[in-house]
Amino acid sequence: MDIKKVVVIGSGTMGSGIAAHLCNANIPVTLLDLTTEISEKARDRIYKSRPPLLIDKKKINNINVGNINDDFDTVKEADWIVEAVVERIDIKHNIYEKIFKNRKSGAIVSSNTSSIPIKVLSEKLNTEEKKDFCITHFFNPVRYMGLLEIVKNENNDISKINSLKKFCEKELGKGAIVCNDTPGFLGNRIGVYAMQVAMTEAFKMKLTIEEADAVFGRPMGIPKTGVFGLYDLIGIDLMADVLKSFIKELSKNDEFQIVAKEIPLITKLIKQGYTGRKGKGGFYRINKDNNQKILEAINLETEKYSPSKKIDLGIETVNLNSLINRDDKYGKYAWSVISKIIKYASSLVPGITDKFNDIDEAMRLGFNWAMGPFEMLRSIGVKNFFERIDDFKGNKFLENLAKNMDENFYGQRQIYTDIQTLAKVRPTALKLDKNNSAEIHRFKDFNIVEFTTKACALDYDSMDALKNAIDKPLIIINESMQFSAGVNLSYTMNFAEKNDYKSIDKFIKYFQETCKTLKYSNHPVVSAPSGLTLGGGFEVLVQSNFVASHTNIVIGLVETMVGLVPAGGGCKEMLWRWFQTEEAKKDPDFAPLKVFDIIGYGKTATSPVEAVPLKYLSPNDKTIMNRNGLFSVSKKIIEDNKDFKPPLECSFNLSGKPLKEKMIKVLEKLYNDKIILDHGMEVGKELANVLSGGNTSLEKKLTEDDLYRLELESFMRLIENKKTQDRIKHTLKTGKPLVN
Ligand code: NAD
Repeated sequence: MDIKKVVVIGSGTMGSGIAAHLCNANIPVTLLDLTTEISEKARDRIYKSRPPLLIDKKKINNINVGNINDDFDTVKEADWIVEAVVERIDIKHNIYEKIFKNRKSGAIVSSNTSSIPIKVLSEKLNTEEKKDFCITHFFNPVRYMGLLEIVKNENNDISKINSLKKFCEKELGKGAIVCNDTPGFLGNRIGVYAMQVAMTEAFKMKLTIEEADAVFGRPMGIPKTGVFGLYDLIGIDLMADVLKSFIKELSKNDEFQIVAKEIPLITKLIKQGYTGRKGKGGFYRINKDNNQKILEAINLETEKYSPSKKIDLGIETVNLNSLINRDDKYGKYAWSVISKIIKYASSLVPGITDKFNDIDEAMRLGFNWAMGPFEMLRSIGVKNFFERIDDFKGNKFLENLAKNMDENFYGQRQIYTDIQTLAKVRPTALKLDKNNSAEIHRFKDFNIVEFTTKACALDYDSMDALKNAIDKPLIIINESMQFSAGVNLSYTMNFAEKNDYKSIDKFIKYFQETCKTLKYSNHPVVSAPSGLTLGGGFEVLVQSNFVASHTNIVIGLVETMVGLVPAGGGCKEMLWRWFQTEEAKKDPDFAPLKVFDIIGYGKTATSPVEAVPLKYLSPNDKTIMNRNGLFSVSKKIIEDNKDFKPPLECSFNLSGKPLKEKMIKVLEKLYNDKIILDHGMEVGKELANVLSGGNTSLEKKLTEDDLYRLELESFMRLIENKKTQDRIKHTLKTGKPLVN
């Protein structure tokens, strides 16, 4: 089955997200709505979306728009018609009638419904039509959420479902999981249950909403929005509708019913317009009294708002055992929530799927959980779990496990895909080493380094792992959300606060030495980024020999935002890349000025297409839609480069003082226009010093080591400056840059 043309009907949140993503995959798509004006507005929204739904904004015109009356003929040409209109069965039925009258024979028709079963959606279709009708449940935002649930039933032509799955994996890059027609499918059934448990237990155990969110968040490997924060984000009214549909669809004795009961506070909030972030606020709200924005949280007992209190559990990494064994209310709450989630998820096997780890994958890809319920069980340990759990009668999965007590019950991960992924390879690889920040594995004749810190922030140990892994070809890759958000700022600030600048100097030198070793190692080094690839993370990538990049990246050198300059070779490498251009051959100052502009503004790219013109990526770097494919593409690069020779060392001819003056002129204009303030000027001058080559002249050849030295000197002067430290502290606290 070839899918060459697609029509999406309904241009709201989901329809426009799906259309944009088809456009990302270079598939011509037509977006229809009630009126062309509505779908035109949707196309505008796609263009302006942030984070961007499009990988390449220039392709916006590949999305044709129209309306369902005048432009329905487009359906005749389509190989796949996706319905993404409002969740109303009468409207959907009418549309299907029209589609099936017009579609070409064999074209696939799917609905993006999140709650209506196939048997209801397709009740008016004939047997032939039912064969080609399924649910393709995308998640919002479509470009960024990895999960796609393809829901089928006994009427489907399975070979067609499988080719649709292949198409969605390969072309759209989705983790496509085929599942049965049960309420909420896999992700929402467990995800919404988990939210309801986390919420009802917080009420029962009298936790504040901040406390509940602090536990049901990072410590459990769940996004930090927690449960009440997530309720506000999704919309409290929408969640109430979702629950109503679960109550209706699920049997009366399903455990879900217990946690789905109406909560009076929620009904009251909806009535008063507190529907979440889109409304006046929800469990949290911003109070704008006295021209100041104060985040407030609701008290679940008094139902009154007061300033939100930050809860710090002092947990850096996910360790479920230490969390549930805490001798305080947080430990009790965590156990209560986790054990209920595990019990519920396992009670659904084999009812909703016999491949229990598909549930875990759905939670990872659709809810950004680090572990699904079965991985939580594995991480707690089978013996530990059964020592604590009370009643699980009737739960076949747990009854079996309790009999064989098999700690290795889990088996393989990611069985939903044929792709050879990192997760599949890891258990068969040899674990060579592990420190606090990274792991080294040996697979066949190459090494794999995975960063393991929060946001994969880099420190001395991360560098140590890289340095120790270059005795063989190397792939730097990981499964977390980010490739690396850069050097660990808390780590650096800890030294600065103790005036221990020697340790910072030592770390930066080691960073440089490691990156240089990566670049000139006799074996190829491949970086495989996805997500944030910033600052130091970019410097590791840019000094690798090859790159296999996911299409969802945010890449760039952002050090100036925190009052620093790139000092791990970032300035040097960007200079070198820009020196290779035609313009640079004519004008020796072209490259440094260009790099000054890019690094000075801390420019970032949100896709490889945007990264190439900035030269953060090169046109030879590989780009991959499906994140699961990063490992096998990297492996192939290594296999194809058996005769690898390291690059030749580069050298630089920079103009020195006159060039620095040009850069300072640029800074003065920005200062006079109040775009930068005093410290912005300082940082800019240090950057100018590095990029102009310091005390040099055009005839003098600077080596890479000279450039590393300039980077280090500027970095050290800046980190010792109180205003840089203020910037770092501010960013660590708020996640935002400080302009000073
Ligand atoms: P939405 O309200 O944002 O958009 C619905 C669109 O359908 C609107 O543009 C509306 O004008 C259009 N529409 C209504 N009747 C129509 C008709 N007869 N013909 C053509 N267009 C018509 O809704 P949404 O959030 O995009 O949801 C769409 C579907 O996706 C629903 O079935 C929903 O359950 C499902 N879904 C939503 C999400 C989500 O996060 N929003 C996630 C997964 C699935």
